[in-house]
Amino acid sequence: MKQYRIAAIPGDGIGTEVIAAGIEALAASAKRDGGFALSFDRFDWGTDRYKKTGRLMPEDGLEQIRAHDAILFGAVGAPDVADHITLWGLRLAICQPFDQYANVRPTRILPGIVSPLRNVTGPELDWVIVRENSEGEYAGVGGRVHKGLPEEAATDVAMFTRSGVTRIMRFAFALARSRPRKFLTVVTKSNAQRHGMVMWDEIAAEVAREFPDVNWDKMLVDAMTMRMTLRPETLDTIVATNLHADILSDLAAALAGSLGIAPTANLNPERKFPSMFEPIHGSAFDITGKGIANPVGTFWSAVMMLEHLGQPVAAARLMRAVEFATANKSLHTPDLGGRAMTKDVTRAVCEAIAGDNR
Ligand code: ATP
Repeated sequence: MKQYRIAAIPGDGIGTEVIAAGIEALAASAKRDGGFALSFDRFDWGTDRYKKTGRLMPEDGLEQIRAHDAILFGAVGAPDVADHITLWGLRLAICQPFDQYANVRPTRILPGIVSPLRNVTGPELDWVIVRENSEGEYAGVGGRVHKGLPEEAATDVAMFTRSGVTRIMRFAFALARSRPRKFLTVVTKSNAQRHGMVMWDEIAAEVAREFPDVNWDKMLVDAMTMRMTLRPETLDTIVATNLHADILSDLAAALAGSLGIAPTANLNPERKFPSMFEPIHGSAFDITGKGIANPVGTFWSAVMMLEHLGQPVAAARLMRAVEFATANKSLHTPDLGGRAMTKDVTRAVCEAIAGDNR
């Protein structure tokens, strides 16, 4: 029987609650499937550890998880520690050295969920956003000098490399090809940013020639926000830079009903390193400890993890169980306007998995 070792990093705030739920759903999936087994190693990395030791993860943290088959991540961040410290100290400290350069964010309106977009009931909105996850605006290149003085200066340099842009374009075109519509929208800001973004456009056109069966178009990121809200049915697969896709995918999550639903995969497509799966929401300290965090974003991330591990049947079964739960309004958590608790949704999803005879 195939055995997978999963590194679970719940992190901060509701991260602990949704990862516990995700582990339950994954365990139920493996049990129902019978063809594979999952074991989970839990790591207590996060802001509490930072407050005690000065580090969010131990110095040899990457070594501890390098041999795992996948990473299930909750959230990092706390109200009393600066966001750039927690982000760079844990999430990016894993994504960057493990070369998880393709950040994949599917968005769809699940059964029973109401989009804030008038007239959008479901089929009109079915996207996958591919975010370049290793360079661009979040490359970490820059500096700050003359701190506190009137002449203080700070730079964040957006860095685009030919190899970095080419590999994310190839990934995005291949993903677009695997979807029924075979359609990719390349997002840029090449009218105003005339170096990196123009190279991005040129490389898109070059890579497009390798995928003659994929249709594609280009959008400026500002116009893209309008197209997403006014003509969602004209989009399918979308590729954008680290910053642009970060923003667009939050918009996408809101349009799909709640931040609590949206999943992410941080992939190292060559599988030299483990890939990482996480809900897109943060630690949400306003609801931490209340037992009302929506676990659906984590469940959907777990679906992506099962697909990545090569278990498409179990992945589809878990997704059906999630859709069964969202279709039932009495299983909606407060972010969706309901009164259900995390444990109610988790129990319903696990029961649906166990009872799925397909
Ligand atoms: P960060 O850790 O990135 O600073 P945050 O704590 O500010 O994030 P977000 O994740 O950005 O919170 O979410 C904003 C708000 O949306 C939260 O404060 C919370 O009320 C709500 N929210 C987010 N995720 C969930 C969820 N899974 N279930 C229910 N509500 C959620």
